[in-house]
Amino acid sequence: MAKRFRLNIQGIVQGVGFRPFVYQLAHRCRLNGYVANTPKGVAVEVEGDQESLYHFLKALPESAPPLANIIQIDTEELPAAEYGSFEIRSSEVGEERATLISPDTETCADCLAELFDPKDRRYRYPFINCTNCGPRYTIIDDIPYDRPKTSMASFVMCDDCSREYHDPLDRRFHAQPNGCWACGPRVWLTDVSGNELRTDDPIVAAAEHLKTGAIVAVKGLGGFHLAVDATQNEAVKRLRRRKGREEKPLAIMCSSLEQVERYALLGEEERRLLTCPQRPIVIVPKRERNEIAPEVAPRNGYFGVMLPYTPLHHLLLSHPFSALVMTSGNISEEPIAIDNEEALQRLGPIADYFLLHDRDILLRSDDSILRVVSDRPRQIRRSRGYVPVPVFLRKPVAPVLALGGELKGTICLTKGSRAFVGQHLGDLENLETLEFLEQTVAHLRRILEVQPRLLVHDLHPDYLTTQVAKTQDELPILAVQHHHAHVVSVMAEHGLEGRALGLALDGTGYGDDHSIWGGEILAADQISYERVGYLDNVPMPGGAAAIKEPWRMAVSYLTAAFGAEIFERNQVLFQRWDPERIRVLLQMIERKVNSPSTSSCGRLFDGIAALVGLRDRIAYEGQAAIELEQCLEPTNERYEYECREADGRLLMSPTVIFTQIYKDAVSGVPAGVISGKFHQTLVAMFTEACVRLGQMYGLGRVICSGGVFQNVFLLENLERQLQAAGLEVYTPQAIPANDACISLGQAVVGAASLEG
Ligand code: ZN
Ligand code: ZN
Ligand code: FE
Repeated sequence: MAKRFRLNIQGIVQGVGFRPFVYQLAHRCRLNGYVANTPKGVAVEVEGDQESLYHFLKALPESAPPLANIIQIDTEELPAAEYGSFEIRSSEVGEERATLISPDTETCADCLAELFDPKDRRYRYPFINCTNCGPRYTIIDDIPYDRPKTSMASFVMCDDCSREYHDPLDRRFHAQPNGCWACGPRVWLTDVSGNELRTDDPIVAAAEHLKTGAIVAVKGLGGFHLAVDATQNEAVKRLRRRKGREEKPLAIMCSSLEQVERYALLGEEERRLLTCPQRPIVIVPKRERNEIAPEVAPRNGYFGVMLPYTPLHHLLLSHPFSALVMTSGNISEEPIAIDNEEALQRLGPIADYFLLHDRDILLRSDDSILRVVSDRPRQIRRSRGYVPVPVFLRKPVAPVLALGGELKGTICLTKGSRAFVGQHLGDLENLETLEFLEQTVAHLRRILEVQPRLLVHDLHPDYLTTQVAKTQDELPILAVQHHHAHVVSVMAEHGLEGRALGLALDGTGYGDDHSIWGGEILAADQISYERVGYLDNVPMPGGAAAIKEPWRMAVSYLTAAFGAEIFERNQVLFQRWDPERIRVLLQMIERKVNSPSTSSCGRLFDGIAALVGLRDRIAYEGQAAIELEQCLEPTNERYEYECREADGRLLMSPTVIFTQIYKDAVSGVPAGVISGKFHQTLVAMFTEACVRLGQMYGLGRVICSGGVFQNVFLLENLERQLQAAGLEVYTPQAIPANDACISLGQAVVGAASLEG
């Protein structure tokens, strides 16, 4: 007796070889019926005997193609239809677009084998791909994901490619970016003026130029990279100078895992991350002796490393480089270049050569960055390879668009029970980045077909994103407090509901009392929050200038601890700082001129880094705090702290800690020891605060978020101590701890507000 089942499969199931996989599986199980793409995913009907059906239904989720991500399978039994065969039907059309688009994915092993096989017709073809690999999100303009809606539209397939494309049993069946030497995109090398240089092989020529220390702008998958030989210090220095990037570490690309292990120490999880299909940059500890140029990551114990992820990278790295610097093709914090003309113009002053191609990048996407902490991968910059995979919410919510914060901007759009966090936009401080935000919003709205009902922005009145929200009249708007968004983003990632303690430690977030927050404990749910604990406020003399110049914060904490006389009494310790400038700061503090008050934990790190002589000025965000963490010497000692109750809140005193650190510094205790004791103090103080607040408010869960949790010591030890104290702890993993998570938190708060 034949039975018939209809399966509706949702998830990332289009453009990933799902239909041919189902086709082949059905043939193996000797079932009849069909498979088709639908607006919601994939529909399958299978008919046959019970045992074959059983095998089919079991194997389907277990052996799905590598890029597929099945979220849900709905199965219903129907009366037999007596199908005579199994076939792949053309797409079923409908109203709603709910299908998920795959992110861009590294070249698969099958394609790599062909790439380096002299007998293959795609030998050394820099755009080889198949249904299991290649570009996706960055070349798609609209859905359904079909070639005419991608930047491959202008390339007409040759007969050979077309045959593969239409053969359900071929591994390039419906591989939209399919192409070859005869019909697909091509690569060429130019000088800085865009004149094509005559070469036998442009990639070989580019590699030879790199060998001589030249800087080559390489068009990649989600944008341009600036490449330089990572072992040539002078060349790396020149790149830094031209790019206007003083000290922030530069990412490197190595040909293989074995190569990476020559410069860096890898654990199991790092190896897995480096080789996963998303191919992110992974932050890994340097080996003490390595041949990478010091200028790649000066005063930093770590490298950001990635493996090749496009055929072009594989070809470039097949030359004997130890490693190539592959840093974003931009000037400082602007968006990375994606168009050939734009790149020649913007990167002309930086690069010596351009390795260009003619497959357009429709949406830029930077390399993602992760690091392993407590054996779990943690996103630092979530972009290429991960976007547009959504965060799955516990239940469907109203469609909401959230614009995020300012630094490390992202946007978030909800649809049903999914929250789509867009790719890394950069710091929303200039018009270029703002334009990129607008493109990303338009693109996501188009491919998801969502009409949001609410626009959410940060409470900060001066953020560009706030201005955007306030100057449009399409949607009603809602302002969400920065740290509330931080906490809710982590709740969303872990599927939590209800009230919990939120420990939000970061640099800057606008508070509802108009001061600058950043060392906060909230009692929060998805609708509202109460500020139940925080670091006592100190002035930030010069406002934003105090972020760039940590010594200003040292002056502020010292003044709070000892009064202004301290600078008369101990001139030896402060001789690095200009007495005239100290006087100006003291006046600003005293007269409360341009000195917003702050509870920021990030500023406390800054002030201490400056006091112990690590860094008075920073060249990139968070640098002082990073260097304070990296010099840390393990110790069990810590400073005394004060955590006092006032009106049902806990106030923690940075001044009490700073006083003791000053005494240590005066008596010559090394910076590393001070750092160790300071870190231990924060762990003890925040643990005690959370335990006490947990009891006061009857809450047993602690949610950690904020840029300070990129500090590995703090994250590991706070999590452990809070757990040891009997609290349930949730930390950021799939979505960064830094401000890239703000849009997700905003969207969830916004959606909850529409329900409430
Ligand atoms: Zn492939
Ligand atoms: Zn072809
Ligand atoms: Fe923040």
